Amino acid sequence: MTTNASRAQWAERAGALRIASGLFIDGRDCPAIAGERFECVNPATGAVIAQVARGQAADVDAAVASALLAWRDRRWRGLAPRARMDILFRFADLVQQHGDELALLETLDMGKPISDVLAIDLPEVLKTIRYFAECIDKIEGAVTHTDAQALHLIAHEPLGVVGAITPWNYPMLMAMWKVAPILAAGNCVVLKPAEQAPLSCTRLAQLFVEAGGPPGVFNVVNGLGIEAGRALALHPDVIKLSFTGSTAVGKLLLGYAGQSNMKRIALETGGKSPQIFMPDLYDLDVAVDRAVGGIFDNAGQVCNAGSRLLVQRDMVDEFVRRFVARAGQAYTPGDPLDPATRLGPVVSQAHQRGILARIASGQSEGAQLVMGGRAPAAAGAGAYLEPTLFTGATNRMAIAREEVFGPVAAVIAFDTEEEAIALANDSDYGLAASVWTRDLQRAHRMVRALEAGVVWVNCFGDGDMTQPFGGYKQSGNSRDKHMASLLSYTQSKSAWFQIG
Ligand code: ADP
Repeated sequence: MTTNASRAQWAERAGALRIASGLFIDGRDCPAIAGERFECVNPATGAVIAQVARGQAADVDAAVASALLAWRDRRWRGLAPRARMDILFRFADLVQQHGDELALLETLDMGKPISDVLAIDLPEVLKTIRYFAECIDKIEGAVTHTDAQALHLIAHEPLGVVGAITPWNYPMLMAMWKVAPILAAGNCVVLKPAEQAPLSCTRLAQLFVEAGGPPGVFNVVNGLGIEAGRALALHPDVIKLSFTGSTAVGKLLLGYAGQSNMKRIALETGGKSPQIFMPDLYDLDVAVDRAVGGIFDNAGQVCNAGSRLLVQRDMVDEFVRRFVARAGQAYTPGDPLDPATRLGPVVSQAHQRGILARIASGQSEGAQLVMGGRAPAAAGAGAYLEPTLFTGATNRMAIAREEVFGPVAAVIAFDTEEEAIALANDSDYGLAASVWTRDLQRAHRMVRALEAGVVWVNCFGDGDMTQPFGGYKQSGNSRDKHMASLLSYTQSKSAWFQIG
């Protein structure tokens, strides 16, 4: 992967990129059966970069049929664990070799700064594939303690054909958080990437087959959520569906499961993550720096974005002063192909309009806008937004309750630890939270009290593959990463032998 190319060099490479825009079924690129397509737009410029095959129910049927055949003839689960590991390691190596191409696809498709794709998304994708590959021959069953006349084995078996529906904010990474453990467990998969940014996922499926992955084991059906996504979620041969996206769609998927075959539904949905800044924190500059990154990285399009900044009342003015200074320096909206850019456009003009409407609602509810709040004047057709901060917000306001999924944070003042915890927990969501304090007892107390699947202390967004990632409450019901995720794509089989 290249790390030192200039903006002009990236732009030149972008011009020469060949874009795969089909579906990927049974190891081959193919058009949609009905021949329809949808446009992929570069949000930095408004230019159409590809016309992508628009898969619908018939295409989902074909992909699931291909996966089911691969499942039944055991071409993947029947391989020795080492053979499957080798293929997944080769897959990771190929992803690494094609890093520049994949990074460009991601940047052109959804506007993420190229330096972020190279420094964050791609390394995390590689870690994900390699971690779950390493797990394959570490899965162990059990022999339970029974009467001497019996031998009882418990084995973990793969499920069958698993569906994955993924979002556009980290297209490759969210897809691999699903696909890597699904495959490592021995299943076959049909992936429906987000229609806003499908290009890198299709390329990943091609690379899996190039690495020796059997055809039909990893299929991609591009298309709209309401068409291809819905058809996958209703499909009677899909035994489990793993989803990352909005809470509203998560609820629909639970309904589709009930209407069809009661498939298991694993959900990682929205968030409204609180960061709590106590007066006894170690270093305000460090805390502010992480608060700024926690909401403006990836233009705030992160499910665990730290969008609610709960700041002890006496510190608010100083916190806001430093926050505005820091964000103004580091997060000027800019061309995502420029390696110096840390804040690219949001994913689309429609999303930009939705975020501007939420900013307007924050103002009309009485919060004070102290930074940003507009599309930059020079943005043209690019879906850019200024980094935005409100103060004087309350937890009842829509900007504190609803997911904005953009570069917009709200400071909410509190007086006591109890009040901070009550405010943090007063949310439909419970994905992540953080606490900034130097008091160890307070830190432990608050970690226990916070209703969130991930709690960071004196940091934000940190972790590795051993960290189960997922939410409490309406932030979801499952965990990505960690061995537990792999096991969630298996089911136990009890084998009871009478031996005496
Ligand atoms: P966002 O609002 O961030 O785009 P969504 O939850 O709408 O999040 O989208 C996440 C994923 O869910 C995308 O792949 C999208 O196509 C898919 N999706 C959207 N609506 C449906 C639906 N009704 N059924 C199945 N999948 C859907």
